[in-house]
Amino acid sequence: MDLSNLYQEVILDHYKHPEHKGLSLEKDVQVHHINPSCGDEITINLTMRDGVVSDLTWDGVGCSISMASASMMTGLLHGKNAAEATVIVESFVDLMHSKGTSQGDENVLEDAVAFAGVSQYPARIKCALLGWMAYKDAAIQVHGK
Ligand code: ZN
Repeated sequence: MDLSNLYQEVILDHYKHPEHKGLSLEKDVQVHHINPSCGDEITINLTMRDGVVSDLTWDGVGCSISMASASMMTGLLHGKNAAEATVIVESFVDLMHSKGTSQGDENVLEDAVAFAGVSQYPARIKCALLGWMAYKDAAIQVHGK
Protein backbone atom coordinates (compact mmCIF):
# COMPACT_ATOMS: atom_id res chain seq x y z
CA MET A 1 0.00 0.00 0.00
CA ASP A 2 1.00 3.57 -0.60
CA LEU A 3 2.06 4.93 2.75
CA SER A 4 2.67 8.41 1.42
CA ASN A 5 -1.05 8.99 2.00
CA LEU A 6 -0.55 8.22 5.66
CA TYR A 7 2.57 10.07 6.54
CA GLN A 8 2.05 13.61 5.37
CA GLU A 9 4.78 16.09 6.22
CA VAL A 10 2.60 17.97 8.70
CA ILE A 11 1.87 14.72 10.54
CA LEU A 12 5.56 13.95 10.92
CA ASP A 13 6.17 17.53 12.06
CA HIS A 14 3.65 17.19 14.86
CA TYR A 15 5.09 13.82 15.80
CA LYS A 16 8.59 15.28 16.09
CA HIS A 17 7.50 18.57 17.66
CA PRO A 18 4.28 17.90 19.55
CA GLU A 19 2.16 20.77 20.83
CA HIS A 20 0.73 20.96 24.35
CA LYS A 21 2.54 17.78 25.35
CA GLY A 22 3.26 17.39 29.05
CA LEU A 23 0.39 17.33 31.49
CA SER A 24 -0.63 20.48 33.36
CA LEU A 25 -0.65 20.21 37.12
CA GLU A 26 -4.03 21.90 37.35
CA LYS A 27 -6.99 20.27 35.67
CA ASP A 28 -10.71 19.74 35.97
CA VAL A 29 -10.58 16.20 34.64
CA GLN A 30 -8.02 13.67 33.53
CA VAL A 31 -8.79 10.92 31.05
CA HIS A 32 -6.68 7.97 29.99
CA HIS A 33 -7.45 6.11 26.78
CA ILE A 34 -5.71 3.20 25.11
CA ASN A 35 -5.79 1.71 21.65
CA PRO A 36 -4.94 -1.95 22.28
CA SER A 37 -4.76 -2.85 18.59
CA CYS A 38 -1.68 -0.66 18.14
CA GLY A 39 -0.45 -0.18 21.71
CA ASP A 40 -1.10 3.58 21.76
CA GLU A 41 -1.83 5.26 25.10
CA ILE A 42 -2.82 8.79 25.89
CA THR A 43 -3.64 10.83 28.98
CA ILE A 44 -5.23 14.24 28.67
CA ASN A 45 -5.86 16.97 31.22
CA LEU A 46 -8.73 19.32 30.48
CA THR A 47 -9.69 22.56 32.18
CA MET A 48 -12.77 24.52 31.12
CA ARG A 49 -13.27 28.14 32.22
CA ASP A 50 -16.52 29.97 31.42
CA GLY A 51 -17.38 27.28 28.88
CA VAL A 52 -14.07 27.61 27.05
CA VAL A 53 -11.25 25.07 26.73
CA SER A 54 -8.74 27.08 28.72
CA ASP A 55 -6.18 24.34 29.19
CA LEU A 56 -5.77 21.08 27.32
CA THR A 57 -2.57 19.09 27.64
CA TRP A 58 -1.63 15.53 26.90
CA ASP A 59 1.02 12.90 27.28
CA GLY A 60 1.31 9.52 25.73
CA VAL A 61 3.23 6.85 23.91
CA GLY A 62 2.41 5.26 20.60
CA CYS A 63 2.70 5.42 16.85
CA SER A 64 3.32 8.61 14.94
CA ILE A 65 -0.29 8.81 13.76
CA SER A 66 -1.74 8.70 17.27
CA MET A 67 0.77 11.14 18.74
CA ALA A 68 0.58 13.63 15.86
CA SER A 69 -3.20 13.51 15.95
CA ALA A 70 -3.28 14.22 19.69
CA SER A 71 -0.91 17.15 19.17
CA MET A 72 -3.08 18.64 16.45
CA MET A 73 -6.27 18.05 18.42
CA THR A 74 -5.02 19.95 21.46
CA GLY A 75 -3.79 22.81 19.28
CA LEU A 76 -7.15 23.08 17.52
CA LEU A 77 -9.35 22.91 20.60
CA HIS A 78 -7.43 25.36 22.81
CA GLY A 79 -9.48 28.50 23.34
CA LYS A 80 -12.63 27.11 21.71
CA ASN A 81 -15.93 27.03 23.52
CA ALA A 82 -17.57 23.67 24.17
CA ALA A 83 -19.88 23.91 21.15
CA GLU A 84 -17.10 24.89 18.75
CA ALA A 85 -14.91 22.09 20.08
CA THR A 86 -17.70 19.58 19.54
CA VAL A 87 -18.13 20.70 15.92
CA ILE A 88 -14.40 20.23 15.31
CA VAL A 89 -14.34 16.81 16.98
CA GLU A 90 -17.39 15.59 15.06
CA SER A 91 -15.91 16.88 11.82
CA PHE A 92 -12.73 14.90 12.46
CA VAL A 93 -14.67 11.76 13.40
CA ASP A 94 -16.72 12.06 10.17
CA LEU A 95 -13.50 12.45 8.20
CA MET A 96 -12.03 9.30 9.77
CA HIS A 97 -15.16 7.36 8.85
CA SER A 98 -15.19 8.61 5.27
CA LYS A 99 -13.17 5.65 3.89
CA GLY A 100 -11.09 8.01 1.82
CA THR A 101 -14.05 9.76 0.15
CA SER A 102 -13.63 13.06 2.04
CA GLN A 103 -10.79 15.56 2.00
CA GLY A 104 -12.05 17.15 5.21
CA ASP A 105 -13.18 20.71 5.82
CA GLU A 106 -10.07 22.83 6.10
CA ASN A 107 -12.06 25.73 7.56
CA VAL A 108 -12.91 23.55 10.54
CA LEU A 109 -10.01 21.14 10.80
CA GLU A 110 -7.11 23.24 9.53
CA ASP A 111 -3.96 21.07 9.41
CA ALA A 112 -5.85 18.04 10.66
CA VAL A 113 -7.16 17.47 7.13
CA ALA A 114 -3.73 15.91 6.60
CA PHE A 115 -5.22 12.82 8.25
CA ALA A 116 -7.77 12.36 5.44
CA GLY A 117 -5.69 9.58 3.89
CA VAL A 118 -5.74 7.62 7.15
CA SER A 119 -9.46 6.95 6.68
CA GLN A 120 -8.51 4.46 3.93
CA TYR A 121 -6.66 2.29 6.44
CA PRO A 122 -9.10 0.78 8.93
CA ALA A 123 -6.32 -0.41 11.24
CA ARG A 124 -5.03 3.15 11.68
CA ILE A 125 -8.31 4.98 12.20
CA LYS A 126 -8.32 4.17 15.90
CA CYS A 127 -4.80 5.55 16.15
CA ALA A 128 -5.90 8.85 14.64
CA LEU A 129 -9.04 9.03 16.76
CA LEU A 130 -7.46 8.15 20.11
CA GLY A 131 -6.81 11.68 21.35
CA TRP A 132 -10.12 12.98 20.01
CA MET A 133 -12.09 10.26 21.77
CA ALA A 134 -10.21 11.06 24.97
CA TYR A 135 -11.21 14.72 24.63
CA LYS A 136 -14.82 13.73 23.99
CA ASP A 137 -14.82 11.64 27.15
CA ALA A 138 -13.18 14.46 29.15
CA ALA A 139 -15.71 17.00 27.85
CA ILE A 140 -18.57 14.81 29.03
CA GLN A 141 -16.96 14.36 32.45
CA VAL A 142 -16.22 18.04 32.91
CA HIS A 143 -19.80 18.85 32.04
CA GLY A 144 -21.00 16.56 34.81
CA LYS A 145 -18.96 18.40 37.47
ZN1 ZN B 1 -1.27 3.61 16.55
